[in-house]
Amino acid sequence: MICPHCHHDSSKVVDSRPSDEGRAIRRRRECEYCGTRFTTFERIEKAPLLVIKKNGNREEFSREKLLRGLVRAAEKRPVTMDQMNEIVDKVENQIRATGENEVRSQVIGEHVMKILADVDDVTYIRFASVYREFKDMNNFMKEVQEMIAKTNTIKDGEFG
Ligand SMILES: [Zn+2]
Repeated sequence: MICPHCHHDSSKVVDSRPSDEGRAIRRRRECEYCGTRFTTFERIEKAPLLVIKKNGNREEFSREKLLRGLVRAAEKRPVTMDQMNEIVDKVENQIRATGENEVRSQVIGEHVMKILADVDDVTYIRFASVYREFKDMNNFMKEVQEMIAKTNTIKDGEFG
């Protein structure tokens, strides 16, 4: 590691500790030439992940963008920021676990919806209506009815 002060290229590590809740290692280094101390961080490298949009364009996967979509869908609903962050984490992990470096936006939407269906009905339907861009009302109603049927089945199960 090159010293930021004198540009000498050897330094020794004088301290090393976990940082960012274990997601990084913070190291204090000391230049062996001039004695300047500086800090470096070691993190797992995340390979870029591209999202293929419906029109075929690619853009880099953005946690922030996905989170914003969720926040919008969950407006005035009892879904916490922690839950939404957790959903984004889960979905990102599921996608990265496939080892692919490109993913269709629809696939991301399906992953989110699968989780949302168990979290909050209204948020699920709002998210689905944006993500699937329902062309006609019939498709949308069908989705809603399936959702309601599923919810009722679960309720029957709980009380039966
Ligand atoms: Zn130096």
